[in-house]
Amino acid sequence: MVVESPARDSREPNIFDYAVEQFNIAADVIGLDEDMRRILSTCKRELTVNFPVEMDDGSVQVFTGHRVQHNVGAGPSKGGIRYHPDVTVEEVKALAMWMTWKCGVVGLPYGGGKGGVRVNPKMLSQNELQNLTRRYTSEISILIGPHSDIPAPDVNTNPQVMAWIMDTYGMHQGGIVEPAVVTGKPILLGGSAGRFEATGRGCVYAIAEAAKKYGMDFHNLRVAVQGFGNAGATAARIMHEEGCRVVAVSDSRGGTYNPNGLDIHAVDEHKRLSDTVASFSGGEPVSNADLLELDCDVLVPAALEGQIVRDNADRIKAKLVAEAANGPTTPEADRILHDNGVIILPDIYANAGGVTVSYFEWVQGLQSFIWTENEVNERLHKVMADSFEAVHTVAQQYQVHMRTAAMVRSIQRVAEFAKVRGIYP
Ligand code: NAD
Repeated sequence: MVVESPARDSREPNIFDYAVEQFNIAADVIGLDEDMRRILSTCKRELTVNFPVEMDDGSVQVFTGHRVQHNVGAGPSKGGIRYHPDVTVEEVKALAMWMTWKCGVVGLPYGGGKGGVRVNPKMLSQNELQNLTRRYTSEISILIGPHSDIPAPDVNTNPQVMAWIMDTYGMHQGGIVEPAVVTGKPILLGGSAGRFEATGRGCVYAIAEAAKKYGMDFHNLRVAVQGFGNAGATAARIMHEEGCRVVAVSDSRGGTYNPNGLDIHAVDEHKRLSDTVASFSGGEPVSNADLLELDCDVLVPAALEGQIVRDNADRIKAKLVAEAANGPTTPEADRILHDNGVIILPDIYANAGGVTVSYFEWVQGLQSFIWTENEVNERLHKVMADSFEAVHTVAQQYQVHMRTAAMVRSIQRVAEFAKVRGIYP
């Protein structure tokens, strides 16, 4: 039996501390009282599960997973499930808290949750991945449900993984079909048109709103995208189709750079065939670190957290950073970027397109309705445009940057739910 080593929760920096620091900055701005601070800076439920999975060669591995609910004041907790070797409970807590603020920014009737399993899924066969997913789902089944906690895809999980979660949940309930227990599932099983592209598309809508507001010509933007997965590849493709010049993209194995603009469809095809964008012949190789510092108008971090830090923030040349990823900028780096006049579209707004269309999918599932892709995209566009205006108004009202403004808008809403509901018993 192989036992995975315990999660490295003591690693520096602690991403949950960053999330709380961002919260406190916004809480100070609105003078949030101490009792509400204590409630909102704490995760409501934190479940850790250690579970065995039988591998194809007959051996057994024990994996560690988490499901965390930060807050459920506004509705069931909502948030993705991540499979990654670096998953820790602190990371999942931070991601769950950001989900609460994200749902608040765009006004969804959800609280925030997140899940993760510490695993490198690229080392597993499809069969092993399915076994891991079904067992993890069983382990967290005390939390998830269509009216309590609704998972979705995140890093290294996809519609197939959501299908296994939905099926496992249904089997636990005696063989029912419950599409509303997960979002981001295959369209065949009740997934929503437009959900797969929603995070990247929503991020592009956010960039377009910012370009309008700050006098940039959207169709002529030069864009660098770190991370070529669901969020990053979709954002890159849509911006390429809109006429923007996507000068660089990358994945975990490195990046490709062409100052004249990359043919993103060709990059996509190359990635499909060779499993990386790094060796694309239409561009020069570029490291993930160097990509962040390229000369461009818009930088889209769309990989993992902690990419823009104190050490490299001063060298970011983009005028606009649109955070498709969760937590890509540390609070220290935030301050440096702001001092340098860089505008940040914060994660809790810029990548909220994913959870917004997840909400549309959940509503369709509960009511057995099917919306067209156009309907979904139009509604998404309205949510992103209205939310941009609302956050921008708060930024002006309190004279703060967009991240703090987005946090203020959300915290006020979430605190109001907590106040009106009161404390049980
Ligand atoms: P994904 O697994 O589809 O893609 C992740 C991409 O990042 C892959 O291309 C991977 O190779 C790359 N990557 C991994 N480590 C990297 C590194 N160190 N440097 C550069 N690239 C690296 O995941 P995703 O769903 O696109 O998620 C990406 C980010 O977007 C995450 O922060 C996630 O939390 C956030 N997000 C995703 C969604 C969604 O709907 N999928 C919604 C909101 C936010």
